[in-house]
Amino acid sequence: MGAEWYVAPGGSDEGDGSKGRPFATVLKAQERVSAGDTVYLRGGTYRLEEGQVAQHRGMWAHVILLDKSGSKGSPIRYEAYGDERPVFDFSAVKPEGKRVTAVLVRGSWLHLKGFEISGVQVTMTGHTQSICVDNQGSENVYENLVFRDGQAIGFWLGRGSNNLILNCDAHDNHDFTSGNKRGGNVDGFGFHAPRGSVGNVFRGCRAWHNSDDGFDFISAGEAVTVEECWAFLNGTNAKGEPLADGNGFKAGGYGAIDGGRLPAVIPRHVVRRCVAVRNRAGGFYANHHPGGIDWIHNTAMGNRTDFNFLGRNEENTASVPGGGHRILNNVAYPGRAVTANFDRSINESRGNTFDGELRFDRRDFLSLDHELLKAERRPDGGLPEVPLFRLSRGSRLIDRGVDLGEAYRGKAPDPGAYEAEER
Ligand code: CA
Ligand code: CA
Repeated sequence: MGAEWYVAPGGSDEGDGSKGRPFATVLKAQERVSAGDTVYLRGGTYRLEEGQVAQHRGMWAHVILLDKSGSKGSPIRYEAYGDERPVFDFSAVKPEGKRVTAVLVRGSWLHLKGFEISGVQVTMTGHTQSICVDNQGSENVYENLVFRDGQAIGFWLGRGSNNLILNCDAHDNHDFTSGNKRGGNVDGFGFHAPRGSVGNVFRGCRAWHNSDDGFDFISAGEAVTVEECWAFLNGTNAKGEPLADGNGFKAGGYGAIDGGRLPAVIPRHVVRRCVAVRNRAGGFYANHHPGGIDWIHNTAMGNRTDFNFLGRNEENTASVPGGGHRILNNVAYPGRAVTANFDRSINESRGNTFDGELRFDRRDFLSLDHELLKAERRPDGGLPEVPLFRLSRGSRLIDRGVDLGEAYRGKAPDPGAYEAEER
């Protein structure tokens, strides 16, 4: 067992980091830790000040810089103590002319768990962005973190391999300072890592009321997996006012870059067992991706377009209906536009509610109340168990999916994010 250290809102960096004389700052704790140690963060609010910025580099102000690594089997843990809830409030950190990264993680083999980051600021009015957590290391776990009520992107995976973002929430983030003040860069979760950054997974995360997208994988050099994640009400704020793009899962694309600068192998992202509801634009959106994506067992409802497979030709010069996708066992509840840019002849599309004449309506689900998506998480940090989109007894969707070699109940898999209980 490694050593235990403590940080508390009322602590002092003159202390010794014991439970009785905790440090005041995470940075002080980092100076003392070794691989295998645990830093317990006591509950309460940590009000960060501008003088605490760990590093100014170029246009960036890195407030908390975690650059010490654990090792395989001996991670360094920074986690909430017991059931306590630490909140790091960055609202007073407003470095003029700088982009703010609240927590920059350069280290590897770290496990961050059970705390919140709020109020991260944008101070510039030109093109800019701030970030709550920017991961540049590998083998890190981010668990049960919340990124909220700020002007910054929630979680940004800029580089690194085999990182797991587990059961995190990003909500109510809107940059109302820069550009047109609609917050066009503020996504809940972003994966934008270069070639070589493999094995990264988002699981059990939720994104809502972020001014841009829930999840955004534009300009990725490698594939990422997003599973059992929920994106809803993005592109609007809590008052229902329209903000920026507002896609649930913007799972690809490279903008309008020259075709010669595309990755040699276009990453095939995996989006599975996810839910997208009432996002201002696409629920599941290929965003001009010049290759295929795996869309497996997802459920969408009430987005401007539930599934938009907009692609790009090989030269990346023109937008076309996307090809090469594997679109399997998805549900789109009949609403505004179920699909767009969908050419069945150039994709593998099976077991989806939009493939054939499958008829269904609200009676086929236990609930369609999207407010349930905001419910409290389970004590272990997992997604709440809610009846939304669970199939009702006798639902016409039961067993209407195709066998993908995964476990299922009954005669066949059920399309959508959830398999019905046996009855
Ligand atoms: Ca975006
Ligand atoms: Ca079944």
